[in-house]
Amino acid sequence: MPRTSDSSNSRSTEHLLTARFRCPPNPAHFSLSGPLSPTSGYFQLGSGVICYGQCSSGTPAKHVTDPLHDARRHVTPNGSSSIPLPFDPLQIIDNLRCERYLANSPGGEQPLPANRLFRNTYYLLRPFLPVPVRKHLQRLYFRSRNTIPFPKWPVDQTVESVFEQLLVFAMKAGKISRLPFIWFWPEGAPSCTILTHDVESAAGVEFCPQLMDLNDSFGVKSSFQIVPELRYPIPDSFLPGIRGRGFEINIHDLNHDGHLFTNRKQFLRRAERINRYAREYRTLGFRSAVMYRNIDWYDALHLDYDMSIPNMAHFDPQQGGCCTVLPFFIGHILELPLTTTQDYTLFHILNDYSTRLWKDQIARIRNAHGLMSFLIHPDYIIDAPARSVYTELLQYLTELRAKGETWIALPREVAAWWRLRSEMELVPDGSSWRIQGKGSERARLACAVLDHDRLIYEFR
Ligand SMILES: [Zn+2]
Repeated sequence: MPRTSDSSNSRSTEHLLTARFRCPPNPAHFSLSGPLSPTSGYFQLGSGVICYGQCSSGTPAKHVTDPLHDARRHVTPNGSSSIPLPFDPLQIIDNLRCERYLANSPGGEQPLPANRLFRNTYYLLRPFLPVPVRKHLQRLYFRSRNTIPFPKWPVDQTVESVFEQLLVFAMKAGKISRLPFIWFWPEGAPSCTILTHDVESAAGVEFCPQLMDLNDSFGVKSSFQIVPELRYPIPDSFLPGIRGRGFEINIHDLNHDGHLFTNRKQFLRRAERINRYAREYRTLGFRSAVMYRNIDWYDALHLDYDMSIPNMAHFDPQQGGCCTVLPFFIGHILELPLTTTQDYTLFHILNDYSTRLWKDQIARIRNAHGLMSFLIHPDYIIDAPARSVYTELLQYLTELRAKGETWIALPREVAAWWRLRSEMELVPDGSSWRIQGKGSERARLACAVLDHDRLIYEFR
């Protein structure tokens, strides 16, 4: 059965906004304004907000580059308690977060034969190719990617835009100018940051203590994703060394051969081993090799959270992206999407030894009050030029933290918070509201304010 995003208690349009914003129950009822188109395709919900799915007010386009019908102009509240929409909001949000829009995407995006052929040949030859040849091939292959119009480079926030648009419809229809909700992050932090390190090789293993020293010098704790099998020997002292210093351990694939999702039977066998290693390593977090993913198979992974879905994947071998900068549920697993460009891509594909792109992405994600997640490989920052760029990033992030602009936490702390928040409720308390539920002492009451057609968040 295809997986859907968000927890099961939000599988109705009524609960959609409550699940997202943790606002009082049922701020709006949505209904379909007409029969949906037989096929799915691209359309807009206001200028530049690209959706994918069925639509009743116009024909959805086959290609994202075609002229797109704007469904927002066909949303006309009729004065009743239910708001008629020319699309199913659950469907379009799922199609974005679960990357269903790739189904008939002409650019290939989901492993197309051409991509697959390149990938398989590349993986076969990779061990024999000198590094400059490897980099050259990758640059050739990825050069065309920067022109893909959707998801949006360098950060895509379509899911946030869709939710905000739905809330605007609901508030206008209900003549609500201020709607209380539970703020996204604890203690009223405006945004959240995680730093993660996939350990790729024996050289990476060896560099981990130095990387922890560097992070510690900025007062930053991070997570290390370890490949449990075949890739490199794991010294006995390695995992306790990471754990003992207050850093986090997660599982990185099984053996990193690029074939975790090649076939279902093999995946199930590997998932069992991954689950066993997760117990052995006392961890609940996971990231696959090369950001490969097939979320329809995730139910076999007995994990708490995953970090394998990029926000947008212009430079990754598997195309797509979940188009959001906030965590979301895929069945029982919480997804913490990768929302910024990996170090490898920055240094070796874009040939950029600066923090310029990262700062641009940070600004956009902060603006959306999202999760800034970074993937820095110990293997790729051993060299001084790369390491100094990473050091500059640490400097910048910790300056933001000092100004109260972001909460820097371990992935497991973020996952735990997001789960707690997803169970919290707003209950009336005299003329105001009270947050109820486990962890509510860290939660803050916020307010969505309608300013014409725009939403403004008041928090802190
Ligand atoms: Zn890796």
